[in-house]
Amino acid sequence: MDSIFFTDTHAHIHDDEYGRTVEDFIALGSENNVLRCITIGIDYENSLMALEAAKKHTGLYAAVGLHPEYADIYNKESDYEKFYNIAKHEKVLAVGETGLDFYYENNPEKEKQVHVFEDMVDIACKIDKPIVIHSRNAADDTIEVLEKAEKKYHNLKGIFHCFDGSLQVLDWVKNRNFYISYAGNVTFKNAENLRIALENTKIDKLLIETDSPYLSPVPVRGKKNMPANVFYTACFIADYLKIDMSKLSYQLEENFKRLMGEQSLWK
Ligand SMILES: [Zn+2]
Repeated sequence: MDSIFFTDTHAHIHDDEYGRTVEDFIALGSENNVLRCITIGIDYENSLMALEAAKKHTGLYAAVGLHPEYADIYNKESDYEKFYNIAKHEKVLAVGETGLDFYYENNPEKEKQVHVFEDMVDIACKIDKPIVIHSRNAADDTIEVLEKAEKKYHNLKGIFHCFDGSLQVLDWVKNRNFYISYAGNVTFKNAENLRIALENTKIDKLLIETDSPYLSPVPVRGKKNMPANVFYTACFIADYLKIDMSKLSYQLEENFKRLMGEQSLWK
């Protein structure tokens, strides 16, 4: 194992809309020392595809869940158990993505999103895995759901994926088993708010991701994204925080292991 390597904690590579294959992604990733990736499901069928891909490749894992944009299709009676059952699989590292998104007016209504998010959090706690949170224009309500769950479960944990720079969230994760994952947009010229957040993110809370196929970091901005590019986000962060790449790699891995547990991390 190289001493410097990276994990892309959030990508959608099992269903690439441009026809690229998981095998391509893995080969290109290893050229950039990106040796581990979580491919993220957005609904049940898509989560199954993520798991199938993960089963075939060492270093590739799945997260399974229902994205808030699809909250309308959720039917607790038939769906809760289906998600619960696949989430238990050893190649599923987390439940998600899930959360709340009030950015677009035509997104599912708030009650419906909250209902789905609560159930996904419930599943994650029951099987003792982290949740992968998509929170957009929804920090207050996201925190409300999490604090409600905290009263019920002692093992709540997770990742704020594609972090939007919310200082409220940054404050909330302190003293909790929650992590902040920065995507390629932290490298964008106009993303000063994300860099302010980055400066205020304790290094033991930091994770990185691509959210492939979107949000390619500088210097590949505008191209289709892939896990290999998380390397550029790492370079940017190391440079910005003035730490060397080996220290950043080590710290990110420590954070990842603290969140996921040591079990099955190289299956
Ligand atoms: Zn995503």
